[in-house]
Amino acid sequence: MIYFDAAATTPVRPEVLAALAPLYTSDFGNPSSVHSAGETAARALDYARRTAAGVLGCRPGDIVFTSGGTESDNLAIKGLALAAPQGRHIVSSAVEHPAVLESLAYLQRLHGFRITLVPVDGTGRVDPAGVEAALTRDTTLCTIMTANNEVGTLQPVSEIAEACRARGIPFHTDAVQAAGWLPVSVAGTGIDALSISGHKLGAPKGCGLLYVRGVLPLEPLIHGGGQERGRRAGTENVAGAVALATALSLAEQERPAAAERARKLRDYLIDTVLEQVPGALLTGHRTERLPGHASFCFPGTSGEAVLLEAERAGVLCSSGSACASGADEPSPVLTAMGLDRETAQTAVRLTFAPTVRENEVALAARALSGAVKRLRDLQQAPS
Ligand code: PLP
Repeated sequence: MIYFDAAATTPVRPEVLAALAPLYTSDFGNPSSVHSAGETAARALDYARRTAAGVLGCRPGDIVFTSGGTESDNLAIKGLALAAPQGRHIVSSAVEHPAVLESLAYLQRLHGFRITLVPVDGTGRVDPAGVEAALTRDTTLCTIMTANNEVGTLQPVSEIAEACRARGIPFHTDAVQAAGWLPVSVAGTGIDALSISGHKLGAPKGCGLLYVRGVLPLEPLIHGGGQERGRRAGTENVAGAVALATALSLAEQERPAAAERARKLRDYLIDTVLEQVPGALLTGHRTERLPGHASFCFPGTSGEAVLLEAERAGVLCSSGSACASGADEPSPVLTAMGLDRETAQTAVRLTFAPTVRENEVALAARALSGAVKRLRDLQQAPS
């Protein structure tokens, strides 16, 4: 069985496992304890913070370790919005992850915020001019993802961040899918907050980080002890922080070559499927997309049926977002891109990690094309 669902999650890298194992056994202390076991844990946490800050080009104190991408998005959006001295308006896009959209819905429902979701074009991209036009004097925050999880499309985040900075409006980006594939350094950019999740990068589930520029007031979501400089209470997940920092730093070293290679394999995968499956549609942008991401619609089929058929042929893939799979409703991302409901329900996503082998990509392309053909033949066969 080959795994083509890296956007849902990835296995833990051996180097990461080696780095985190002692933190569960010999070096298990609580970083708040004053004895030597506590000091060892505090040093490990400090190492993780400095390592992550090195990749992000920020100060170690600007990193808040969290439980993952969802918490980082929640903390950035609710934390920055609720701490803002004035204004009750947030600008975002129609294709954000539910961790962002549901945080916005919460602020609207319980705190009276006004939310503007800027539309996207047929490739899933927001127009920076459209975002700029949506900013008002009342805007307290703008949040636009770096790369979309369902269709892989990259957003013009630097341009939008600059426009926000020029107006003094904090800008957050969900970089959960981008980390490991694209630069995530915030140095010299207008990015004020950025979310990363460990399990998309070869660290375990349950660890993530939020970069948030130190001068910005941030209302914590979790109250308790003063950990993470009072921005996220609770005994720190030291092993998770070390795992995330290790995975992030390895991914950053390998990134330029890995992304270049993955782009070629992705293009081969996309071209092969489009060539072999009549009527197949690529979803998302052709070139401005994540290197390890290919997504399609196959009109006349059902996405779920294609997945099952592909699994029978030895390939594990997904119908779009792991969070929404199983839902009957078509993906809001695809409908926001202008696809009709019926077509949106035929979505299939193939995503791979930088370690993918060339023969696996060829196999996945063949398995997917074969799965769609078999389903179509079955539909046409007289009953
Ligand atoms: N944001 C994006 C773009 C994602 O793809 C995901 C997960 O798929 C998340 C946020 C949530 O991350 P986590 O699973 O770490 O909570």
